[in-house]
Amino acid sequence: MSNFIDEIMSIVKQRDPASPEFHQAVHEVVESLEPLIERNPVYRKLRIVERIIEPERVVMFRVPWVSDAGDIIVNRGFRVEFNSAIGPYKGGIRFHPSVNISILKFLGFEQILKNALTTLPMGGGKGGADFDPKNKSDNEVMRFCQSFMNELFRHLGPNTDVPAGDIGVGGREIGYLFGQYKKLMNEFSGVFTGKGITFGGSLIRPEATGYGATYFLMNMLATKGLDLKGKLVAISGSGNVSQYAIEKVTEFGGRVITCSDSDGYIIDEAGIDKEKLHFIMWLKNVKRGRIKEYAEKYNAKYFDGAQGIWKAHNYHVAMPCATQNELDEVSAEALVKGGCVAVSEGANMPSTPGAVKIFLNNGILYGLGKAANAGGVAVSGLEMTQNALHMAWTRDEVDKHLQRIMKEIHDSAYNAAEEFGQRHNYVLGANIAGFRKVADAMIAQGIV
Ligand code: NDP
Repeated sequence: MSNFIDEIMSIVKQRDPASPEFHQAVHEVVESLEPLIERNPVYRKLRIVERIIEPERVVMFRVPWVSDAGDIIVNRGFRVEFNSAIGPYKGGIRFHPSVNISILKFLGFEQILKNALTTLPMGGGKGGADFDPKNKSDNEVMRFCQSFMNELFRHLGPNTDVPAGDIGVGGREIGYLFGQYKKLMNEFSGVFTGKGITFGGSLIRPEATGYGATYFLMNMLATKGLDLKGKLVAISGSGNVSQYAIEKVTEFGGRVITCSDSDGYIIDEAGIDKEKLHFIMWLKNVKRGRIKEYAEKYNAKYFDGAQGIWKAHNYHVAMPCATQNELDEVSAEALVKGGCVAVSEGANMPSTPGAVKIFLNNGILYGLGKAANAGGVAVSGLEMTQNALHMAWTRDEVDKHLQRIMKEIHDSAYNAAEEFGQRHNYVLGANIAGFRKVADAMIAQGIV
């Protein structure tokens, strides 16, 4: 059977030799699918895996814009429309200097199975640009977003492709992108999620990924009769996902003692309480400053280098919420030694394959990103529903839906893992449960 993994990986490597992140994402999935394919040879016969790893469409385009100083700058934009078997392409836009086709294909591929797990009708996609919003003025960010949308708009539509935010794309950027789309199309439609509340956004969307990853964590802990009360928690990053994970974990009685940005991390033994979290939100969302300033204000410890965060202290729970491959084998060993019982990923693919093996081999409750962080896209799906109904639900209604969906995602991953004799292997369970749904839809729709 491992022939199957070799065959698929050789296709991927031959076609995309310079795409290590994409190889990593595909490898994790095909490894999990082995027992499913063995039981259901029809997936093999109909070449479903070969079809699902090939995007339906990729667009790449020039994004020229003019800086405040009058310089002409050229960035590169992308949209990977990966799979529309169960709904319109759906997935975020990332603005970060590291963005390239490998990263967007890994993210788009993950998004197919993640969206299937949410139980909502959404296909998979991802997009972005190698543009860095850091140290840019609001006007520069606006001009960039307008230029980016001048090409992207022709590929979008409420029933075709509905993007959202991701790293470097928050409320400000979505507002500018949506404004330009509306102008070009002369129509007000729900073609972006994560919109401002005054123009069609959903309550709880900004909170959804961080809250959702915490709900997923609570569901995992409950399977062993545990909860968050009194637990020491490490949360990396200090952006959108981290901020709301800090809020929800604290609400459930956990003590978050660390967070980070791409320069370094802080340790605050007293815990990040509500007031300190408000400071982080102001620091990161308004001032757009560095996490080092937290340490200065609250007399906490600060360390250079983001990767040291997992080795700096003993934690009961870890929530990587910054970026891909931020938690390696050495960090995973340190977490295990320090008595960590659960890892819930707010970020996409933050743990390296070696780190994941260490978690699984040591019986750590490991919630992989495509299941644990699906709350964001789930509430995006709810935003699409509200837009289509021309309605706005209350905060409480949306939060209840989010909690229900996170439990359903947890249970379907848990049950699929059990079905294949690997209780608590959420990697296997989530990949199988997500894949089955998309694969069956693809079979029903013929060779297209
Ligand atoms: P933000 O841009 O709001 O925050 C990202 C955070 O991660 C910042 O603190 C940033 O630091 C840090 N970071 C970025 N790159 C690196 C790096 N190379 N090394 C260390 N730290 C880094 O993004 P989000 O919070 O929205 O996204 C975080 C993760 O969650 C991503 O993996 C994203 O794909 C995933 N995700 C997000 C969803 C959402 O709804 N937003 C949904 C599902 C997944 P700095 O301030 O220095 O840039």
